[in-house]
Amino acid sequence: MRTDFDYITLGLGGLGSAAAYWLARVAGRDVLGLEQFELGHVRGESQDHSRIIRLSYHTPGYVRLAKRAYESWAVLESDAREPCLLKCGGLDVAPRESRIPLDPYLASLTAERVPFEHLDAAEIMRRFPQFRLTEDCHGIFQEDGGIAMAAVANAAHQRLAREHGATLRDRCPVTAVRTVGGEVEVVAGGAAYRCHRLVVAAGPWSNTILAMLGRTLPLEVTREQVTYYATPHLTEFAPGRFPVWIWMDDPCYYGFPVFGERATKVAQDAGGHPTTAETRTFDPDPANSARVQAFTERYLPRALGPVLQIKTCLYTLTPDRDFVLDLVPGHEQIALAIGAGHAFKFASVIGRILSELATGGRTPSDLSPFSITRPILADPNPPRSYMV
Ligand SMILES: Cc1cc2nc3c(=O)[nH]c(=O)nc-3n(C[C@H](O)[C@H](O)[C@H](O)COP(=O)(O)OP(=O)(O)OC[C@H]3O[C@@H](n4cnc5c(N)ncnc54)[C@H](O)[C@@H]3O)c2cc1C
Repeated sequence: MRTDFDYITLGLGGLGSAAAYWLARVAGRDVLGLEQFELGHVRGESQDHSRIIRLSYHTPGYVRLAKRAYESWAVLESDAREPCLLKCGGLDVAPRESRIPLDPYLASLTAERVPFEHLDAAEIMRRFPQFRLTEDCHGIFQEDGGIAMAAVANAAHQRLAREHGATLRDRCPVTAVRTVGGEVEVVAGGAAYRCHRLVVAAGPWSNTILAMLGRTLPLEVTREQVTYYATPHLTEFAPGRFPVWIWMDDPCYYGFPVFGERATKVAQDAGGHPTTAETRTFDPDPANSARVQAFTERYLPRALGPVLQIKTCLYTLTPDRDFVLDLVPGHEQIALAIGAGHAFKFASVIGRILSELATGGRTPSDLSPFSITRPILADPNPPRSYMV
C-alpha cells in the first residue's frame, strides 16, 4: 500500500472533498484523502440535500469570495457534467429595526457591483405571496441566490478527485499528525503516511487535530437542526416560484423551496446548544422545533405541514463567525480550514484556496480576515457574536 504522497487531505466533508478535487486537478495520483467515517456520513457538517448559496454578504470581502465560489462551482459542474447549484433567487428579509441590519449587505453588494433589488414588504408579498410580513419589513432580492446541492456536490468532488487520480480512503481515522523536517507524518488506520503538504478540514473535530500540533482555538461546536414540513402546497413552494430566504434578525431563521424531499425546509441559524462531535446526540431539541414552528406559522403559514423529518447537524463556530483559512503557525506545511457554520456555499473556492496554499503557498483570494493569528482567536474568553 502506498504511504508517500505529495498532498494529504485530512477530512472528506464538504471542504476537504473540495480540496481533494482541486489538489487532484494539479497533482493527480500524488493526492491522498483520509476520512474517519464512510464518505457521505451524517455525523459532521456537510450532509443533507441543500445549503443556501448567495452573493449577499455583509462585507465586500465575502462578496468577492462568493463570486469566486460561483466561478469555482462552475468549474466543478463543467468537469462533473452535472449541476451542483440551483439558482432560484435569494431573499434576505428583516424588520427595519433588526439585530442584523441590511445596510452592510446593501453597501457590500453595491460596492461589488452585484445587481440586486431592495424591496419593501408589499413588493415582497406581491412577488412571493407565501410570505405574511408586517409593513415595517424590507428585503434584498438577489437573483443568483439559490441552493448548493450539498450531497450531490460532495459526491461530485469525491468522484472527480478519484477520476483525476487521487486516492480517497474512508473509515480511516487519523490518530496522529506531526511535522518532521519539511514534511508531515500522518498516522491513520494503523498506517504511517508521509506528505509534503497536509490540508486539514476536520470540521467539528478541528481542535482534536490542532491539539496534535500543540494548539487549540476557541471554537464552539453546536448541534443545529433543520425541519422538513410536508406542506400540502408543494407547487407554491417550488424553486422558481419561491426563493431561498433568510430572516435577518435575532433569532435568525432561514429556509428553502421544495428540494430533495417533497417538503419545505426551515431552520433557525445558530439556534443550537453547545456540544462536541463525540458526545452529540441526533435527537431534535423540542424548544428549537417550537421556535421554528411558531416563526413559520406567523410568516410562512402555507409552508407548514406535518413534520416529515428533523435532521441534526453540527456548526463549528469561531467567536466572530469568520472562517479560519490559513497555514498553521510553526507548521507551515499544514493548511487549515474551519467553516464557522456558513462555509458550504464557499466549499468550491475554499477547496481551491487550500490547494493553492498547499501547492504554491499563496492564493489570489484575500485571506486576511480569516487569519489564524487574528486577536480574537488568541482570547481564551472571547466575546461571541454569531449573528451575521
Ligand atoms: C444545519 C446546517 C445548515 C447549514 N446551512 C448552510 C447554508 O445554508 N449555507 C452554507 O454556506 N453553509 C451552511 N452550513 C455550514 C456548512 O455546511 C459547513 O460550514 C461546512 O459543511 C463545513 O464543512 P467541513 O468539511 O469543514 O466539515 P465536515 O463536513 O464536518 O467535514 C469534516 C470531516 O473531517 C472528518 N474528520 C475529522 N477528524 C478526522 C480524523 N481524525 N480522521 C479522519 N477524518 C476526520 C470528519 O469525519 C468529517 O467528515 C450549515 C451547516 C449546518 C450544520
